[in-house]
Amino acid sequence: MANPKLDERSWEVAKEEELLQLWKQEPFRFTKDSGKPVFTIDTPPPYPSGSWHVGAVAHYSLIDMIARTMRMRGHEVLFPFGLDRNGINIERTVEKKFNKRLHDFDREEFIQLCREEMERQSRIYTNLAMRIGFSADYEDYYYETDSPDYRRVTQAVFIELFRKGLFYRGLRPNFYCPGCRTPIAEADIEYEEIPSKLLYIKFPGKNGDGLTVATTRPELLCACRAVIFHPEDERYTEFEGATLIVPPHGQEVKVSPHPAAKPDFGTGVAMICSYGDTMDIQLFRELSLEPVAAIDERGLMTEAAGKYAGMTAMDARRAIAEDLEEERVVEKAESIRHKTPICQRSGDPIEFVLTEDWYMKQLEILPELRSVVDQMRFYPRKHRQLLLDWMDSLTIDWPVGRKRYYHTEIPLWYCRDCGEVLVPEPGPYYRPWRDPAPFESCPKCGGTEFQGEEGVFDTWMDSSNSNLVACLYMRDMEFFKDHFPASIRPQGRDIVRNWLYYTLLKSYTLLGEKPFEQVWVSGMGLDATGRAMHDSLGNVIDPVPILERYGADAFRFWAATETNVGEDFRISEEKIAGSGKFLTKLWNVARFVSSFSEVDVGDDLAPSEQWILSELNRLMEDCLRGYEEFNFFIAANRVRDFLWNLFAPHYVEMVKFRAYEGEAGSVYTLHQVLRGMLRLMAPIIPFVTDYIWREVYGGTIHTESLPSPREEWDSKLRALTPSLVDFNSLIWREKKKRGLTLKEEISGVALPKELMPFAEDLSRMHSIKW
Ligand SMILES: [Zn+2]
Ligand SMILES: [Zn+2]
Repeated sequence: MANPKLDERSWEVAKEEELLQLWKQEPFRFTKDSGKPVFTIDTPPPYPSGSWHVGAVAHYSLIDMIARTMRMRGHEVLFPFGLDRNGINIERTVEKKFNKRLHDFDREEFIQLCREEMERQSRIYTNLAMRIGFSADYEDYYYETDSPDYRRVTQAVFIELFRKGLFYRGLRPNFYCPGCRTPIAEADIEYEEIPSKLLYIKFPGKNGDGLTVATTRPELLCACRAVIFHPEDERYTEFEGATLIVPPHGQEVKVSPHPAAKPDFGTGVAMICSYGDTMDIQLFRELSLEPVAAIDERGLMTEAAGKYAGMTAMDARRAIAEDLEEERVVEKAESIRHKTPICQRSGDPIEFVLTEDWYMKQLEILPELRSVVDQMRFYPRKHRQLLLDWMDSLTIDWPVGRKRYYHTEIPLWYCRDCGEVLVPEPGPYYRPWRDPAPFESCPKCGGTEFQGEEGVFDTWMDSSNSNLVACLYMRDMEFFKDHFPASIRPQGRDIVRNWLYYTLLKSYTLLGEKPFEQVWVSGMGLDATGRAMHDSLGNVIDPVPILERYGADAFRFWAATETNVGEDFRISEEKIAGSGKFLTKLWNVARFVSSFSEVDVGDDLAPSEQWILSELNRLMEDCLRGYEEFNFFIAANRVRDFLWNLFAPHYVEMVKFRAYEGEAGSVYTLHQVLRGMLRLMAPIIPFVTDYIWREVYGGTIHTESLPSPREEWDSKLRALTPSLVDFNSLIWREKKKRGLTLKEEISGVALPKELMPFAEDLSRMHSIKW
């Protein structure tokens, strides 16, 4: 090879580090007054905890491709990077480290310990984001959800919505995790099949026959308020309106028909108590029953449970079952597997507890929210249904309070004299548990003593404002007015029901608008056999050594080619390593092309040039169609296929003789195709493309635009691609068969008529003697 501009024989991972340094001086900073149309990305703020999941790192690589695509489509991209730092996870880490429960710490001290731990973990995440080339503006648009600046937004949004009447305090059935010792939202629950005991308990009749009720929750007998059977279950029709006596507590309950009863579960007769499941909650509301709090906020049985008061629900279940067996009211006991709600964070079975708490109204707003969903564009479109299905499944309003410390404080005070709730002005960051009340006197009674709220917000109350923060809410309201809703929300499929849903709920109730124009939902990263990665399974892949070994570009290229947008993807080191081969191929071809000085040539191109340029046109059309949909799978696979199966083996081989002779048309075309491929690949593999571009063409590729097809490059010759590929393959096979090397002369082959335009190039390529 004559003097290639790319000196090195191969692409090396170490060059990525050099580029990262360059990108710091020539950064992807957001320039508000560039005059370009602004594109705002509501970047998901990751929650730092331990090492970053390799699937998440792949997910963020893809999100970065959205930003780079939009820059190369002429937009000024506001691409923030934030960390979600509030919450129970970090609290648990500190609790574990000191082997002490949160409520046994001094609150101030505990917060300090969480902050220190968080700082340490945060650095791992930010460094890794930078390492994969995540091109956010880390200088001016970096945020942390536990900072005073962010928390004051969370509080201000709450205050605005509070004034609109969207929050109420109520004694409501609530999901409660005995492990985390806090109420949790429906979105934090998963269901698991758990073995349990189904007891058939005889309820005597007050004035006649009794009925046998099957239940897995005998500890809730004290809270039983009704008994139901299915209206079409003729075994029990005559019991409608009868009164039963609930053992062992003795309260009286009415029997009524209700379609919620399942004739084939147990005896077909079910007790309704506060609360065994969400169905109970619904029936209490529907039948206007007075709920009994059987389990308190600590997960212990209340006075209502009589002699079982003070026991944990589990202990009470066992004790009552034993007592009932002794009293011979248990007809039989069956071992079954029962779908049980589990805390997503700690894995504890959930209790339904009556708690006095702050709720955000959501059930009554759902019909309006549905129409807002229709105004947003989903990629892929089918994932829109995940959001709608979740909205259909909601049964209670959103309990937003938590009894924890390392969260945003609920900004409220209460009048000590009359109990009036006092709401401060939006703006500052409030800590009512330690700050003096910002009020002179109670507007209701004139009292001057106030009690600050001790509770904090569910962390989704913070992260559901990320789209506002991305659009500079409360920071630059003029900009916000012009650029809200955010352009796109990229996120994982697993948090549609919380992050996506709550952001929709908050933005709509606050501003009457959709939260973003577009939603991009990616699938989940699984191991090579399709299982989720868990420490317990031993299948976790640490992304740090992978990046050290293969580099960010190989990782990113793998992430793009692995799976179509929205589908789950399987992660294996082998495949990531395999992506490195594509980079090598690209490097080799670029190095070859770089050995010819680029020339400007008019339209006098030979048929081979006309053919490959029209194929380049088609490649650009396909890739742009992919980029239009933020589908990097299409672009990455198309370019790989083009480079590997068309450009390198066919075109380059056909014309390299002419290029060596300095023939302008072939040199021009080699460079045009290289330029095209590099620009098409720059959003996906930003390192190697930028390096080659700088060396061969000068300047950074990241200020170029995506290439578009050129009309003068369209050619009918494109239709000959299959026949050309077939012919070349035939010759290669034939030479092999005859024991000839690729360079050796071959004779006795016929050129298909349609390939006549390429006759000269083909005969030189294969040394054909016609
Ligand atoms: Zn829990
Ligand atoms: Zn008062």
